[in-house]
Amino acid sequence: MDRWLEQDNLPAKVHTLAAVETGKDCLPLYCFELGNPDPATPTVIFSGGVHGVERIGTQVILAYMNTLFNRLDWDESLDSLLQRVRILFVPLINPVGMLKRRRSNINGVDLMRNAPIDATGKVPLFLGGHRISRHLPWYRGKRDEPPEREFCAIQRLVESVVAEAQFTISLDCHSGFGHRDQVWFPYAYTPDPFDDIGEMFALRMLFRRTHPSYSFYLIEPQSRNYTTHGDMWDYLYRNTLARRKGVYLPLTLEMGSWLWVKKNPLQLFNALGVFNPVLPHRHERVLRRHQCLMEFLLRASANFSNWLPGHSDRREWMHQAIDYWY
Ligand SMILES: [Zn+2]
Repeated sequence: MDRWLEQDNLPAKVHTLAAVETGKDCLPLYCFELGNPDPATPTVIFSGGVHGVERIGTQVILAYMNTLFNRLDWDESLDSLLQRVRILFVPLINPVGMLKRRRSNINGVDLMRNAPIDATGKVPLFLGGHRISRHLPWYRGKRDEPPEREFCAIQRLVESVVAEAQFTISLDCHSGFGHRDQVWFPYAYTPDPFDDIGEMFALRMLFRRTHPSYSFYLIEPQSRNYTTHGDMWDYLYRNTLARRKGVYLPLTLEMGSWLWVKKNPLQLFNALGVFNPVLPHRHERVLRRHQCLMEFLLRASANFSNWLPGHSDRREWMHQAIDYWY
C-alpha cells in the first residue's frame, strides 16, 4: 500500500477513515476511491483485513487494485466502465491486528462480533461471540460500550454510501472456515431471510450462468454455517434499511483455508499458516482465483438495472430464493 501512497499520479483518491492507536503511535485506516465520484453512482466496496491474521484477504484486495490501476494506463474500456460505477477499496480494516499478528484489534475485540446486535437463538460457544474476556478469541467488547473505532469508521463509510447510491454491493474478504470458498450474505444473527433475498438470488443466478466454470463458490446465508452475535454486516445492512436509496447486498468471501492446510500440513507450524496459503505457487493461485468474482461484481453493479428484479417480479424471486435456501 505504501508503494502506491508515495506515487504522485495515483489514479485513486485516498481517504483516511480513521487513525487507530497501536499503543505507541497511530496507523491510518485507508480507503482508495476510483470511478465516478457522483454519490448516486452504483458502488462496490471491497474490504479485507478485519481479522489481522487473515492476511490473504488484504492481499486479494490489493492484487485486484493493482490490476485495475495498471489497466487504467492502457485499457479505455475500463475508463468507460468507471464512468458508471464507483469503487471503494478498504484493504485493511484492522491495521493494528495485522501488525501484531492477531485476529482482534488493540483492545482484544473481534470487529466481526462487535456490533450491537444479538443472535436470536443459540450460538456456538465462544465462536458465536462472548463477553467473558478480551484475552479469548471472538470477544465482543463490553456491553453498552460503543463499538470500536475501526467498526465506526466502516459504519460511517457504508451509511454514507447506501444513503445515496442507486445500488451497492460490498465484498469483505476473510479466510479460515472450511474446505471451500464460500460467499456468505446476511443474516448471521438469525436463520430468517434478509429483505433483499430475491435480489441476492438473482445475483447468484447471474453469476452461475455467466461464469459456470466458477462453480466452486458456495453461495449461501451465513446462518446456514453458524450464527453469531455482533456481525458487522448484519448490523450495517439492518441499520441502513430505512435510510438507503437502492438495494444493498453485503457479501463476505470466506476463503476455505483448510484446503491449503490439507495440501501442506506443515504450514500448521507457521503462526499464520492456518489462515493463509504459505507456498508461493498456492499464494499466487489464491490471488488470481477471485479476480473474476470481483470483476463480475463491478460489472453487475454498473449494469444493475439490466438484471435486478423489478417491482412486479420481486415477490417471485423472493419465493424462489426461499425455496432454494431456507
Ligand atoms: Zn475473518
